[in-house]
Amino acid sequence: MPKSTPIPTPRVLIHGGAGSRQPTPSQSMCLTEALIGGYESLKTGHSPLDAAESMICYLEKSGLFNAGRGSLRQLDGFQRMDASIMEGQSLSAGAVAGLEGYLHPICAARRIMADTDHVLIVGRHANRLARHFGLARLVHRKSSTPLMNKRNSRNTLNPKSQALYRQLGLYDTVGAVAMDRAGHLAAGASTGGVAVMLPGRVGDTPLIGAGVYADDTAGAISMTGLGESIIRAGMAKHMAILLGLGWTPLKAANYALKALVSRIQGEAGCLILDRTGRFAIRHTTPWMSAGYWNGCGKPVVKSRFP
Ligand code: ASP
Repeated sequence: MPKSTPIPTPRVLIHGGAGSRQPTPSQSMCLTEALIGGYESLKTGHSPLDAAESMICYLEKSGLFNAGRGSLRQLDGFQRMDASIMEGQSLSAGAVAGLEGYLHPICAARRIMADTDHVLIVGRHANRLARHFGLARLVHRKSSTPLMNKRNSRNTLNPKSQALYRQLGLYDTVGAVAMDRAGHLAAGASTGGVAVMLPGRVGDTPLIGAGVYADDTAGAISMTGLGESIIRAGMAKHMAILLGLGWTPLKAANYALKALVSRIQGEAGCLILDRTGRFAIRHTTPWMSAGYWNGCGKPVVKSRFP
């Protein structure tokens, strides 16, 4: 009898960041609700891209995460947001960096993917496009106390304080991956960045191959953690290559994360889903709020994945 190929089960995975702080119950609840919405979207015939976008939108809108409404501020007091989205069938991708004043950076990324010839648009030009696309606005509030001004910049930028502050406050970025019945994959992520960042800083999240990657012949990956280290290690594409070589998600994630820590003392967490539906959630940080669901039983959301 010929060996039959397993039919992929639709599946969604989500994260609300990796860091040193235990996720709150309301964050966990919000992740669960987003998972349910994402899975329903797949079940009703929407694409994995739609499912990933809708899950991330839900978290951006909640204000409970460092993305969309709840984004951190850069040292000049402004929120500048990054996001990207990718689909695995055609390797199409869209991304936005340094977006100001819009609620759903992930929708801006999707529109850049769908409606332009480009992958990444940054800064005020990204704002202009978001306005052109009629995306929902975020009430733009400049922080009354910019962290950086002439008087305090020296203290604020002290490397020891930065490191400590990051340890206390990592990260609450959001991301998602999804697979439909046909085995098509998508991945996305959205963030307000990290604690203590210079104006104009861009992390891994909008960089395809660093923060996000999806390829139907390999898998889908969404990263979170210290963007500078994730970029330098080219994490998402690295893991996709390992999946393409036949590694299991668990082995690929462990290998890439171990290298990140040992080579450059990086910190990260990941969602990694392969083309057969096997997946892993791994992190080098003490906590990572994340979950998964394939429509059976209840969605699973946890704060650690040892
Ligand atoms: N990776 C994001 C960044 O560096 C932050 C995070 O994942 O929490 O911008």
